[in-house]
Amino acid sequence: MSKQDEYTVIAGCGRLGANLANKLSEEGESVTIIDRNKDSFRKLSPSYSGISLTGDATDLGVLRDADIERASAVISVTNYDNTNIMIAQLAKRLFGIGRVIARLYDPEREFVYRELGIDTISPAVLSIQEIDKLLNKKAGDAE
Ligand code: AMP
Repeated sequence: MSKQDEYTVIAGCGRLGANLANKLSEEGESVTIIDRNKDSFRKLSPSYSGISLTGDATDLGVLRDADIERASAVISVTNYDNTNIMIAQLAKRLFGIGRVIARLYDPEREFVYRELGIDTISPAVLSIQEIDKLLNKKAGDAE
């Protein structure tokens, strides 16, 4: 599938969601980003060519308005783990989306997602990995 055939729905236009939407849009993908606060869309770059949809991304009507049925990927990055779980579950179970990724602030709940076949990213886990890498690099430099 070429980038032009990909369609990604992102829930949450915070720092992470907006930057991701900008990047995918720059790469030529079709993108719809949903946020319940329309001021959040100010974070999108002027060159963002996707759709911005105001609404609660746990609302089935809003997801249908986002044309979620034809999405090749759904990425849920609101600031609430429970909201992200719910959106990811709807995307996977109800709409049959193959690639579903959710942000998880609490890494201890990762097993819930794994059981549901949902990929997760955890800022805490990613930060620990990066810090560990930097510490090892510094230790290597000092030798
Ligand atoms: P941040 O914490 O900067 O990554 O921002 C998270 C974003 O998720 C904020 O812009 C919130 O308005 C948005 N958000 C939170 N809950 C929902 C929801 N149920 N539907 C859509 N957007 C949401």
